[in-house]
Amino acid sequence: MTTAVPPTRNIVVERVEKFISDTYFTDVNIKGRIYTHFEPSAVQLQVSERCDRIPYRDALNLKYEACTVGRSFGPSWATYWFKLDIEVPSTMKGKEVHLLWNSNSEALIWRDGVPIQGLTGGTWVDKRIEFKLTNNSSGNEKYHLMVEMACNGMFGVGKDGLINPCDPDKTFALSKCELAVFDNECYQLYTYFTMLYDIAKNFPEGSLRSNQALYVANNMINYCDINARETWAPCIKMAKEFFSQKNGDSQHSVLATGHCHIDVAWLWPYAETKRKAARSFATQILYMDYYPDYQFVQSQAQLYSWTKQLYPELYDKIKQKVKSGQFVTTGGTWVEMDGNLPSGESFIRQFLFGQRFFKQEFGAYCTEFWLPDTFGYSGQLPQVIRHMGIANFITQKLSWNNINKFPHSSFHWEGIDGSRVLCHFPPANTYNSAADVKEVVLSMTNNKDAQRANNSLLVYGHGDGGGGPTIEMLERLTKMPNTDGIPKVTLGSPRDFFERLQVDAHKLNAWVGELYFELHRGTYTSQANCKRGNRKCEFLLHDVEAVSTILDANRVESFKYPNLNEQWELLLLNQFHDVLPGSSIGLVYKDAAEHHKKIESDCIQHLNGSLGLLGSATGTDVLFFNPTGFTVEKVIELPINTIPTPQISSSGKSLALIKVPAYGFTKMSATAMTSSLSSSAVLSTVQLTVKIDESNSDHYQISNSFISLSIKKDGTISSLVDRALNRQVIVPGQFGNRFVLYDDIPLFWDAWDVEIYSQEKSKLAGPATSSRVLESGPLRVIVEFEHANFAHQSTLKQRVIMYANTSRVDFETNIEWHEAHKMLKVEFPTTLRATTASYDIQFGHVQRPTHFNTSWDVAKFEVCGHKWADLSEYDFGLALLNDCKYGYSVHSGVMKLSLLRAPKAPDADADMGSHQFTYSLYVHKGNLQQGDVVAQGYQVNCNLYSQLVDADYQILPTLISVAGSNSAVLETIKRAEDNNGYIVRVYESFGGHTNFHFVSDLSIKNIQEVNGLEEPITPTTQIKLNTKVGLTPFQLKSFRIQL
Ligand SMILES: [Zn+2]
Repeated sequence: MTTAVPPTRNIVVERVEKFISDTYFTDVNIKGRIYTHFEPSAVQLQVSERCDRIPYRDALNLKYEACTVGRSFGPSWATYWFKLDIEVPSTMKGKEVHLLWNSNSEALIWRDGVPIQGLTGGTWVDKRIEFKLTNNSSGNEKYHLMVEMACNGMFGVGKDGLINPCDPDKTFALSKCELAVFDNECYQLYTYFTMLYDIAKNFPEGSLRSNQALYVANNMINYCDINARETWAPCIKMAKEFFSQKNGDSQHSVLATGHCHIDVAWLWPYAETKRKAARSFATQILYMDYYPDYQFVQSQAQLYSWTKQLYPELYDKIKQKVKSGQFVTTGGTWVEMDGNLPSGESFIRQFLFGQRFFKQEFGAYCTEFWLPDTFGYSGQLPQVIRHMGIANFITQKLSWNNINKFPHSSFHWEGIDGSRVLCHFPPANTYNSAADVKEVVLSMTNNKDAQRANNSLLVYGHGDGGGGPTIEMLERLTKMPNTDGIPKVTLGSPRDFFERLQVDAHKLNAWVGELYFELHRGTYTSQANCKRGNRKCEFLLHDVEAVSTILDANRVESFKYPNLNEQWELLLLNQFHDVLPGSSIGLVYKDAAEHHKKIESDCIQHLNGSLGLLGSATGTDVLFFNPTGFTVEKVIELPINTIPTPQISSSGKSLALIKVPAYGFTKMSATAMTSSLSSSAVLSTVQLTVKIDESNSDHYQISNSFISLSIKKDGTISSLVDRALNRQVIVPGQFGNRFVLYDDIPLFWDAWDVEIYSQEKSKLAGPATSSRVLESGPLRVIVEFEHANFAHQSTLKQRVIMYANTSRVDFETNIEWHEAHKMLKVEFPTTLRATTASYDIQFGHVQRPTHFNTSWDVAKFEVCGHKWADLSEYDFGLALLNDCKYGYSVHSGVMKLSLLRAPKAPDADADMGSHQFTYSLYVHKGNLQQGDVVAQGYQVNCNLYSQLVDADYQILPTLISVAGSNSAVLETIKRAEDNNGYIVRVYESFGGHTNFHFVSDLSIKNIQEVNGLEEPITPTTQIKLNTKVGLTPFQLKSFRIQL
């Protein structure tokens, strides 16, 4: 035996690499010796006819025929079932026998009607092609298994690559189906070699441990004879000696938790995910028996719910393993949703539906929020997380930032209201770790807060149907609990990790505000119709709950509060972090569109049915309902033409300006207007008008009491003046409402990314080619513009609308969009000067810079906003609002709203076709708070509902509203989940302290503050109508009210 590592380090490292290679020298290396005695003939194979995704019991009724290895199956997304009749040869007696199956696709092994292990075919490192039949064969025993083969890979069926659009005609060859003897002793030796190699190769070249590992590995190869078993044990002993050399007390600790990140839809549809979950869960349940100390965490109530419904036997096993502590539930949400786009109430419901499911099914709420893979994290999340009973948060996506490096691994994340959650980014920068020495060490070397908290979490296991951790990963982790130079490793759960981290929590720094993700900025815009469906359904579900709660509380005859669980679950599902952002294949958006359509039609049916109970089809008067927390004043078309009004619309309907109180009603008859709130809620008596001057040949001049707008016949705005202040909004000589097409070619992630250089290359879209005045006042003016040559293959039609009663201009837009790699923005160069702009987010707003001073400012060249963005000086400002868009950029006084993109992967047809959207300009005095921008955001998005009623109809008393504060918004009213009273949610919308009190016309017995899970907050204080309730900046509170 040699006594020193030769001075040819790199050569020796490669010697070790070849000894564990599964490509080179497998006839003489250790890897090639793990499996022996291959027996294809021991498996009699039959295959079914081609079928769809069907249950096991239906698969038994398919037609089967004999089949051999080598046959190919397709096309993409088809399914085939196999019957495997196995007889273990007597030569394998006493041996550990595995079934090896490689269909180059995903597959699931069933035994006696129960899924028992998932398989991932192919040649990648993430393949899983082995299934242990027996530890100790008795020889000649028989097994009957079935394999459900899906004609898709782990990453779907992309044409020639990962994120390419689907290839519908892919086929998958069954390249392996055989028995083999597994040599566990050889495998142990192999595993040690891989670990020593990892240390030798990846530790710094001059480090003692690297050289020691290389020395040991080289010695082991010298000693090892793959054909002489007696040489193996001494080699294992050498390795064990190395790995038993212990660390000092100060060594970093890593807690390793097994996981399978399952994208609920992405490069495959929802239907395939149901099977991916079953494959992954079955595999992990099996491994839990092999490794009793092993813990596996799984998030997303939706996955459990599907498994319960489709694989009840597997679900029972999960329940047992949850009880025994090995299968660990985490996350607390229905799905791992997008972290930017869902509304505040959607965030709440993600947790409410998730936590409620986990509590009902497994007896406890989750204690960590788990969202490793979404594209940025709203600054309102910490408060929502706390409101839903969770204090800890795990993510890591910001490690993908392509401009700045995030400075923390363990820190307090403080939201816009000041709420804090304890946050950890696993420093190995992955939620799919291979659990090798390299990534365990990276957990230490890349931990940016290790001096304050000397612990890290390692999240390991193949994701996306890859089935989670492999045997190889588990073997490695259990071999290095405390090895000198490597962090101490224990297996555990996220809860165990946070218990450790909590000890040092007082030393940690805080990060305040959003966790802005410096990548994937195109996801605020891609798949625009999915985003529109989400916004519309969020408002509709809100409206159904509002009207239902009011009718329920007023005991309206024949009214029954609807069960909206199915509709909410569909909405929440489609907020998944690859669906709502627009980064999935086309099939997924077909599903999403159908889901949104169903929610929409169900909601409209509920709304019509509920309001119908209040009136009659032959009524002479019109009842209006306002489902928002703001008084709404709107010009609308009446459902009947018998009431005299100042204007008839271009479609022949009577137009009226009506005013409806928050969560209240207004009744309109030919002679009078009454309202459910007596104060300040009747139709404004001020004579407001809007008029248009068409005398100028090149532009229209539209004016009302508040603003004066010059709009050129090419559709652009040359002037917008606040009349009272005589302030010009548009930069003189420049034009607002200009459409700009940007070159939109990212570096790789097509549907995901709009890159910074795209801002440098753009051209104006084609101007309006015709225009006409549709309505000319006095309540509403509409001018319609048509851009026949808008872009290469696209056309646009737009109605510019001004009303008598507001300084807001609406731009109702229809576009036929057929472009490639272009991003469309509408832009307004303003005269406003402010170093920050404000953006609407969930239950509040955030400020972001309007300049590019630092690299952190530069990174925010495109940002997410919900209903509005606002640019204000101290006394005056402009808001750019929208009804279904999310991408904004406001820099150097220019306000831009991102309207459409045209990425070609992973959906080749993304965003092609028809789009409808409205954006609005709102000119206001004062800043956004004084200018009522928050209320305008709701006005642009909300629906007002009307119902014909008889002349003697008495409007319902008000159930609940808030008073005494300009900034307290009553966002949600709904029935309590336990049907014991109603839940109302109020938030502070301006960013300051305030007090409000509740108002009701009904007799309210009890008001109690609760958390988002609708549980009492202790200590309880008695709240009555007129009790002052305090709110701190952007604070969110929920209350249970009982009549
Ligand atoms: Zn994901």
